[in-house]
Amino acid sequence: MRWPEQIFITEVGPRDGLQNEALPIPVEDKVALIHRLAQTGLRRIEAVSFVHPKAVPQMADAEAVMASLQRVPGVTYIGLVPNVKGAQRALASGVDEIATVVSASPSHNRANLNASIEETLEEMAKVASLAEKAGVPWCGYISTAFGCPYEGPVEASKVIQLAKALRDMGAYAISLGDTIGVAHPRQVYEMVCLFFKEVPGVELRLHFHDTRGAALANVVAAMQAGAIHFDGSVGGLGGCPYAPGASGNVATEDLVAMAEAMGIATGVDLKALVDVSWFAQELVGRELDGKVRRALRPQRA
Ligand code: MG
Repeated sequence: MRWPEQIFITEVGPRDGLQNEALPIPVEDKVALIHRLAQTGLRRIEAVSFVHPKAVPQMADAEAVMASLQRVPGVTYIGLVPNVKGAQRALASGVDEIATVVSASPSHNRANLNASIEETLEEMAKVASLAEKAGVPWCGYISTAFGCPYEGPVEASKVIQLAKALRDMGAYAISLGDTIGVAHPRQVYEMVCLFFKEVPGVELRLHFHDTRGAALANVVAAMQAGAIHFDGSVGGLGGCPYAPGASGNVATEDLVAMAEAMGIATGVDLKALVDVSWFAQELVGRELDGKVRRALRPQRA
């Protein structure tokens, strides 16, 4: 078996997590959540998205959140952008990194961005050139990389083809998203092996959802194929817009607890992170899905 000495985690709770929450969350609470996450040792935080406020009302205050952040040195604050307008807003807000997204399946791309994959790639090229001029690195997200809610299975060759296009546009990293949580360990292992063979020269990230309880197994399979960059969402914040009530992203504290138990460093203080997970639950006002958070529940007087 092949194990990394260390893995690198991107916390996506404040963006990917909160954007699925119905209850509006005030700017100061979002800022507090981001700051507490940064204090656990997490070094990469997807903080906001610059989508149209009508499309995602929860993220309408992205500028205010960025302006109110207490920046922790060494932490990269990331903003997701769907288009040029979003990229302009993100750059004006002082994000450290831009993430931009395309789906591997045409129907999901149409549902998510109201565009064909080709149109989205054209837009991404413009975003890339803006980011490059501003000296801001960007990461390309490929959604539905392991399966699509409309089209079912997605061919790995299609994902690899998109990844090459993003790399050639200047993405320093590419994240493969299991948007609906259908990936299984064998598929993940084979995809990661293929990615490293076909798309060298770019950092690979994996974004798993726990919809079917396979997220941590998929992390292990990806590690076996050599992956070291993973997304997590504190508490398992978030959900799946295509499966109401289903689990969201893999909980960051579950990922940290498993890795640390295996002797794989994460740089994250698990106890502090579990505390933040309970804080996140208070913010959203509903029971979160993470496992470790229950086992290590902070003792309250
Ligand atoms: Mg997600």
